[in-house]
Amino acid sequence: MKDYVVGIDLGGTKSALALLDKDNQIVARARIATEANEGPDNIIGRLVEVIEGFKADLPEDARLAAVGVCAPGPLDHEQGIMLSPTNMPRFHNTPLQRILEERLGVPARLEHDAKAAALGELHAGAGQGYNSLVYIVIGTGVGAAIIINGQLYRGEKNFAGEIGHATLDRYGELCHCGSRGCFETFMSGPSLSKRYAKLKNTESEISGAEITELAHQGDEAALQVITDAGEALGVMVATTAMMLDIEHYIVGGSVAKAGDLLVDSARATFPKYSFKSFSSRLSLVASQLGEDAAILGSAYLARQALISAS
Ligand SMILES: [Zn+2]
Repeated sequence: MKDYVVGIDLGGTKSALALLDKDNQIVARARIATEANEGPDNIIGRLVEVIEGFKADLPEDARLAAVGVCAPGPLDHEQGIMLSPTNMPRFHNTPLQRILEERLGVPARLEHDAKAAALGELHAGAGQGYNSLVYIVIGTGVGAAIIINGQLYRGEKNFAGEIGHATLDRYGELCHCGSRGCFETFMSGPSLSKRYAKLKNTESEISGAEITELAHQGDEAALQVITDAGEALGVMVATTAMMLDIEHYIVGGSVAKAGDLLVDSARATFPKYSFKSFSSRLSLVASQLGEDAAILGSAYLARQALISAS
C-alpha cells in the first residue's frame, strides 16, 4: 500500500488542508472557514468530512496513513493539546491530536503553526540544503521558529522563538504583551496600520496588505513604513545571528508579501548591527512556500508519526 498523508493548517479564521502522495506531492487540497466561535467540534467535524472525501478518491493501492495538524499556540506538542490560543477561546485545552486519531483511525501529530511552517520550508521550500535556519513569521503577530541541525529548537519550556516580544526600543510604544518597544510594534500588520495612520496624520487605519499594495505603487508613507519594518527585521536577524551563529533566515507571514521592499531594507542593516565578517555570511529570503509552508510541515510531521508508529 502507498502511504498518503494529510497536512492541516488550522487557523483562527480559515483552515487549509492538503492530501500528499507517497512522494510528498500535493494531489488534493481544500480550504474552509474555521468559524472558531462555533468551537472545536464544528471545525473538526468539517475537517474530517473533507479528509473522508480525500480518502474516497484515493487510488486502490493507497491508504491514508497519518495526519499532521498545526495550530496557533501555545500548545502542548507532546500531548497534542491546544492550550490557550489567544483568538480562539473555545479551543482552550482541546486534545486535537487524540480527537483526530479517534475520528480518522490513523496516527496524528500536532505542532505550533510557525514551527510547522519552518519544517515545511526546511524540507520543501527556501530552507532546502540548510541544516540550520530561523523562520520568522510576520503577520498579526511576530514570532520565529529555530531549526538547529535539522531539529526544532524548543528551549527549556517550548518557549524559544518569541523574538517578536524582545525589545528593540525600550522607550518605544507599549505593546499588547505589556512590554515596550517590542519588535512586533515595528513590524506586525496592525503596527504597520498604526504607523501609516500616524504618518498620514489620520485616525482611520488601513490594513497591512493595503499598505504593501500602496508601497508597491510608490506611496511615500507606505514605503517609509515598510522600510522601517525592514530595518527592524534586519536588527532582529543580526541580533539572532550574533547569538546563535545561524546564517539562513526565511521570512513568511502576510507582511512578507511586501517582498523585496522589506527584505532589501533588512539586508542593508545587517552590517550596521553585526560584525562585518559575519554579516556577509547572512542570508535572508522571503518564504518560498507561502501559505503552503505550514501544510507541508504538518504533512512532514504526519510522516514522522508514521515512522515512530512502525
Ligand atoms: Zn510585546
